[in-house]
Order: sequence, then structure tokens, then C-alpha cells
Amino acid sequence: MICPNCGKEIDDNAKICPYCKHDLAADNITASKSGEAADEKKGGLTKSQKTQGLILLAVCIAAIVLCQLFHLK
Ligand SMILES: [Zn+2]
Repeated sequence: MICPNCGKEIDDNAKICPYCKHDLAADNITASKSGEAADEKKGGLTKSQKTQGLILLAVCIAAIVLCQLFHLK
């Protein structure tokens, strides 16, 4: 399995991640609750989606700043 905290490949039966000491037993309890996983897919963003959003935001801010600089001249 993959550690949800550090993303490294670890033993399926491991209760604690050997790399970051993340408590996997606690995660398994929450993950097994019905409906939660589906809700995460619907509402939650993945890490890459969040990163893409931040990049998009940075590009938008840069564009606005550049536009204002041109207007000031
Ligand atoms: Zn880990």
C-alpha cells in the first residue's frame, strides 16, 4: 500500500509507516466508513488539482499586475 502521509510504498500490514511514523490504523478506520470515500471524490481536490489551481491563480495575479503596470505608463 501507499502511505497517505508521505506517499511511500509500505507493507500492507504495517500499522505505522516506517518512513514518517504516520499512524495507518487510524486512517483505515476512517476510510472504512461508508460514504466518506465517495464524498472525497466529489468535493475534495487531489494534490495535483490543488497545485494546478495555485499555478492558475498565480498566472492570473501576474496577468493582472502586468495589465496594471501597462495602464500606469
Ligand atoms: Zn509515511
